[in-house]
Amino acid sequence: MKLSGKTALITGSTSGIGLGIARVLAQAGADILLNGFGDPTAALADIGRFGGKVAHHPADLGDVAQLDALFAYAQEEFGGIDILVNNAGIQHVAPVDAFPVERWDAIIALNLSAVFHCTRLALPDMKQRGWGRIINIASVHGQVGSVGKAAYVAAKHGVIGLTKVVGLETATSGVTCNAICPGWVLTPLVQKQIDARIAEGTDPQQAQHDLLAEKQPSLAFVTPEHLGELVLFLCSEAGSQVRGAAWNVDGGWLAQ
Ligand code: NAD
Repeated sequence: MKLSGKTALITGSTSGIGLGIARVLAQAGADILLNGFGDPTAALADIGRFGGKVAHHPADLGDVAQLDALFAYAQEEFGGIDILVNNAGIQHVAPVDAFPVERWDAIIALNLSAVFHCTRLALPDMKQRGWGRIINIASVHGQVGSVGKAAYVAAKHGVIGLTKVVGLETATSGVTCNAICPGWVLTPLVQKQIDARIAEGTDPQQAQHDLLAEKQPSLAFVTPEHLGELVLFLCSEAGSQVRGAAWNVDGGWLAQ
């Protein structure tokens, strides 16, 4: 088992991409600390199948005090974190001059500031052990814009900048920091955007096709498992000199 003896914290892993990444890491032998909203029973059972230790902490990562509680729990229950996957994220779509200020603040707090806070809380322990992996789930929207997504695009560009700095600050150590930039992945976050098209009268199949056709040349969704396998590679010895990178998994979105 490639990751036996390692503990991975995946933020926002009660659904979607985070849960898919947790599954791949658990299968590789890692112990898993899940985080995210909602009833975690199904996610705990899903990850528990692989035989490693698994727990869930419900911290709201938009609240710095709850982040301290999450890392104290990780220390107590798992003896610290070896692999940090900063995945939790939210979206809101509105033109910039009508963007609700409260949504801007919430998106920056979760999609950007929580990545900084989790990184600063995880790093000292990783440095002391001489090994660690920090993997930030950014987005193609960390490299290009789209209308209506001011806060999300600003936060994801920030995550890629932060990834570069942490990659440089850890460059001579056994700790690496990288970002993954997915294109469309069919999760609840994207389903809401498809549902908005359906609500405007588009047929469900057509709504999915149109969403893909606008941006993603492959016309196929990226899956959480594709992303999990890339996380696993970044955790391997072969991934040890990938540092400060932003790696696209986007069906060709950014090649255009
Ligand atoms: P999702 O909505 O399926 O899952 C989000 C997770 O974050 C859930 O577990 C939710 O409970 C958790 N969460 C939400 N607010 C939280 C908070 N304040 N504190 C702690 N946890 C919180 O979304 P997803 O599509 O799986 O997205 C995961 C990440 O991937 C996000 O950072 C997103 O920006 C990024 N991403 C998604 C896509 C896509 O197409 N789905 C593409 C590129 C990047």
